[in-house]
Amino acid sequence: TVGCAALDKHGNLAAGTSTGGMTNKRWGRIGDAPIIGAGTYANNNTCAVSSTGWGEYFIRGMVAYDISALMEYKELSLAEAAKEVIQKKLPRIGNGEGNGGIVAVDKNGNIVMEFNTSGMYRAAMNDKGELYIGMYKD
Ligand code: ASP
Repeated sequence: TVGCAALDKHGNLAAGTSTGGMTNKRWGRIGDAPIIGAGTYANNNTCAVSSTGWGEYFIRGMVAYDISALMEYKELSLAEAAKEVIQKKLPRIGNGEGNGGIVAVDKNGNIVMEFNTSGMYRAAMNDKGELYIGMYKD
């Protein structure tokens, strides 16, 4: 999966996700990537989210939207919401098989890249042009 989340200087949030899907997937399978709310979601009032991982569980958990909803309805920060969904909800749905993570940015430019796997190749740049690159857990 290649995913991105972005905030522009006008306050517009956007997310995009591209994937080859799961290895040995069934012919015709549609994963979470193109499903708005599951693998991809953006809302100018909350955050933009792009997901990677076992798509069936991201669809069942409506992971990208759920993170936004926790911010909207419970006033969680992006970091808190992402942690709740990726570390607690997702593994529960999948009986431990709900593997994956997200890259996200909120309406204030806070960047969160949360994952429950041993690694997730990721990079981010903030409004000062500072670059972060990561592969495994810090
Ligand atoms: N989420 C993708 C899918 O289930 C797979 C991936 O992240 O590589 O189709």
